[in-house]
Amino acid sequence: NWNWTHRDPDYLPPEIDTTKPSIARVYDAFLGGKDNFAVDRAVATEGMRHFPDRGEGARNNRAMLFRGVKYMAEQGIDQFLDIGSGLPTMDNTHSVAQRINPAAKVVYVDNDPIVLAHARAILQTDERTRVITADLREPEVILDHPEVDGFLDFSRPIGLLLVAVVHHLADAEDPNGLVDTYKARLAPGSYMQLTHFCSCAPEMRELEAVLLQMLGTGRARDMPEIVRFFDGLDLVEPGVVHVPEWRPEEPVSHPLDLGGVCVAGGIGRKA
Ligand code: SAM
Repeated sequence: NWNWTHRDPDYLPPEIDTTKPSIARVYDAFLGGKDNFAVDRAVATEGMRHFPDRGEGARNNRAMLFRGVKYMAEQGIDQFLDIGSGLPTMDNTHSVAQRINPAAKVVYVDNDPIVLAHARAILQTDERTRVITADLREPEVILDHPEVDGFLDFSRPIGLLLVAVVHHLADAEDPNGLVDTYKARLAPGSYMQLTHFCSCAPEMRELEAVLLQMLGTGRARDMPEIVRFFDGLDLVEPGVVHVPEWRPEEPVSHPLDLGGVCVAGGIGRKA
């Protein structure tokens, strides 16, 4: 029974290991959330010691996620596949999309069981939202999953979200090949939003070293490597940029600080 919010507050499903940091919980700690444990906060604290952005990078990424979802919904996208969705925070893909189109459907996918545990409790009343535990590195499992293929219509355009997740793939895991596999399944008119740790600032190498050592994952890649993930798609203006520069709704001050340059991304459309 995953409905652990109604149980003893100290109860944790056995799948949730609080002795090892988890990507979703460390990200939550960077965002200033409450769904994390001491072991996760230790990674965030050490990360911020080397990369003192006060969590701005994570917040800028999350803000661009929502501007991107809003943009796609305004273009008529009414179904989203959000892979590496993370813990549900104050705002979420489905609420942003459904503000534009109340009929919009969203499937959340994450390989961390804590995401399903939290999301089920919050989303169980929303009929247009599904949550599954699955791994980005197994595209067939995700794309052929009954909650994905049976719920979203792959013959029509989809908004694919790979936001701050591909940097958790090592080079040896063939991130380009994996992203290409997902793009190949999309119908014409679909969009892909992707953001990624960017190695633009030298301090990013220090953050990368902390994450690789303490969390075992977190690769920074350079702009050409990030642009490469969009091969075969038409980039929506302004292209692949540092996330605060992607269609900002408020003026952006320059030069960008650490929290501004650490993540880059964009949206591409399949012709
Ligand atoms: N997309 C959200 C955002 O940008 O706000 C969350 C990003 S968070 C940095 C990365 C998420 O990807 C975490 O929740 C983590 O559990 C998930 N993740 C990492 N590797 C994954 C994989 N191989 N398959 C599925 N999810 C993964």
